[in-house]
Order: sequence, then C-alpha cells, then structure tokens
Amino acid sequence: MREYTQGKEAAVKKIICNQCGKELNMRKDLLMEECVSVNQIWGYFSRKDGENHSFDLCEDCYDKLVKGFVLPVTVEKRKELL
Ligand SMILES: [Zn+2]
Repeated sequence: MREYTQGKEAAVKKIICNQCGKELNMRKDLLMEECVSVNQIWGYFSRKDGENHSFDLCEDCYDKLVKGFVLPVTVEKRKELL
C-alpha cells in the first residue's frame, strides 16, 4: 500500500507491505529495500471488470508467497553491466 504526498507532483511518501503491515525503509523519497508491487487492471473477462487492484509486498512476504507456488518462480541471473 502506498501513501503519497499531497500536491501537484505527488511522490511516494510511504510504502507498507499489505501482507504483514511492515513499513518499508525509505530515505526521503528513495526506497532502501526491494518490494514487489502489483497493479492489476481487471477487464471484461474477469469477475472484477472495471476494478483496479494494487498492493505491495516486502521481500519476506514475497518469499512466503512464492513458496506456496506449485511451479517455482523462474529465476534468471542478470549479467553485471560494465
Ligand atoms: Zn511483508
């Protein structure tokens, strides 16, 4: 879940993991840890047509979520950029 600053150019003020409620570590407007952000615009062929759903998960909650998958997450190592 994201809270935004008020004003013309709204910026992310706070990110809270929807699963565990932990507030992610932000320094000013820079996120100091990784999180998973999902934003789904549900369409006609869903049961939620016309709804937008969004949530954020901290890394620990992401790990717990994917452990429950029948098929594992595809993991590819990125090559370091020079
Ligand atoms: Zn969490």
